[in-house]
Amino acid sequence: MSKVFQATHVGKVRRNNEDSLIVIEPETFVVADGMGGASAGEVASSMLVESVKNFLTNSPAPWDETTLARAITRANEDIWNLSRQNEEYRGMGTTATILYLDGIRACFAHVGDSRIYLLRNEILNQITEDHSYVETLVRRGELTEEQARVHPMKNVLTQAVGAMPEVQIDTASFSAQLDDVFLLCTDGLTNMVDDETIARILQNEPNPANALIDAALENGGKDNVSVIVVGID
Ligand code: CA
Repeated sequence: MSKVFQATHVGKVRRNNEDSLIVIEPETFVVADGMGGASAGEVASSMLVESVKNFLTNSPAPWDETTLARAITRANEDIWNLSRQNEEYRGMGTTATILYLDGIRACFAHVGDSRIYLLRNEILNQITEDHSYVETLVRRGELTEEQARVHPMKNVLTQAVGAMPEVQIDTASFSAQLDDVFLLCTDGLTNMVDDETIARILQNEPNPANALIDAALENGGKDNVSVIVVGID
């Protein structure tokens, strides 16, 4: 069983919220951060969550990380096809981060720079890798994490759902434990709030989703911000 909190906010600067999030029964959590001109980002991220939901609810249980990856592949086709048919959606895409809990097994499928964190024994760890240009440089040792945080090209993704005919998807599965807390979030949270503050909020706030949004807004709220917090109890 899990305890779930979710929240999304347009932020203090943007006019549209291009993030989408959804909780799918049983125990599946999705965040998506859309990009593209005009309303295209909103279209891409909302298509992602709808397409994933349709795929999963029509897939026989139990699901695993391969099922989640197939759901993203299907969404990639849907978004890519629409963007090719419609000039105003040309070039749109979205991040996709899906977590599925099956008892004590956890698995995820992931594309882009939205993230999953795991808080276990008071220690917060990012368990997804960003598919971003700056993260590639960090992995090569050409940038530090601190330099990456403020790099002018930090928003450039190396993978996005719907932006190309095919997409590379990271997947993994691992054991979950009692009292684990998972956080799924878009970069509107992690660009505004440091890991230490995130960990403190996850451990102390009765509604951690709302408290995380409040922290992002207090620090400037420069982007849309979306979070899903899942506590295993
Ligand atoms: Ca964003």
